[in-house]
Amino acid sequence: MSIATDLQRLKESLKASDRLPVVFLGHGSPMNAIEDNAYARSWEALGHALPHPQAILVVSAHWMTRGSTLVAVNAKPETIHDFYGFPRELFAVQYPAPGAPEMAKEVVSLLASHHAQGDDTWGLDHGAWSVLRALYPGADVPVFQLSVDMTAPLSEHIEIGAALKDLRHRGVLILGSGNIVHNLRAMRYGARPYDWAEEFDALVAQKLEERDFAALTDRESLGKLLTMAHPSIDHYLPALTVAGASDEKDKLLFMNSAIDIASVSMRSFIWY
Ligand code: ZN
Repeated sequence: MSIATDLQRLKESLKASDRLPVVFLGHGSPMNAIEDNAYARSWEALGHALPHPQAILVVSAHWMTRGSTLVAVNAKPETIHDFYGFPRELFAVQYPAPGAPEMAKEVVSLLASHHAQGDDTWGLDHGAWSVLRALYPGADVPVFQLSVDMTAPLSEHIEIGAALKDLRHRGVLILGSGNIVHNLRAMRYGARPYDWAEEFDALVAQKLEERDFAALTDRESLGKLLTMAHPSIDHYLPALTVAGASDEKDKLLFMNSAIDIASVSMRSFIWY
């Protein structure tokens, strides 16, 4: 089945649905934001299949916090260029979407038991805008970000997603942006994927299909495979939040199921 057919089916199904999908995108290199490549084109195609939401809540791997979950309450979030050593063209990118302060404040209340606080010091980081500019190039949908608490147990990220689930009925698109495998120390251009990268990627895909989220948060049984796939856990966490916001009634669609530069999985998924 081609992805175009899958996305057409997604589009048809969403027309009849009373809830928005939840989406996790593997974002990979910041260059995907300005290059015309297969990933960027897939995000564009997905954008054509998705509805026009009231607001987008982005859980970005690049907003890391410790001991709290921050919710961006800015009315006009600035585009943050949170990387070094990339071409000027990438630093020139702006994504001038408005924020969603009222909805953001509601999310602070929804996540009160997860140490949530409103924050106006962050903007839109490249985890958000690198994919959003392909999905919604008009930058006309209000966007607000949620941080990932690096110190919370993995299972708490599932719980946070579950606490946000009702927003899907209120026109909010929950979008996680990270990578299922993300080991930049091991990356190698033009090399075939490491066995451990393929193994972890396949394991996560299987557990997502089985909705066995407990397996995805069990550090002990994931063991060394988890620490190889994620020397730092940030890029994995948004996938857990998205999983938590999924519903048993949802269908699961995978996209971009490939390992890039030997150690970065671009696997993306949509529950709808
Ligand atoms: Zn990243």
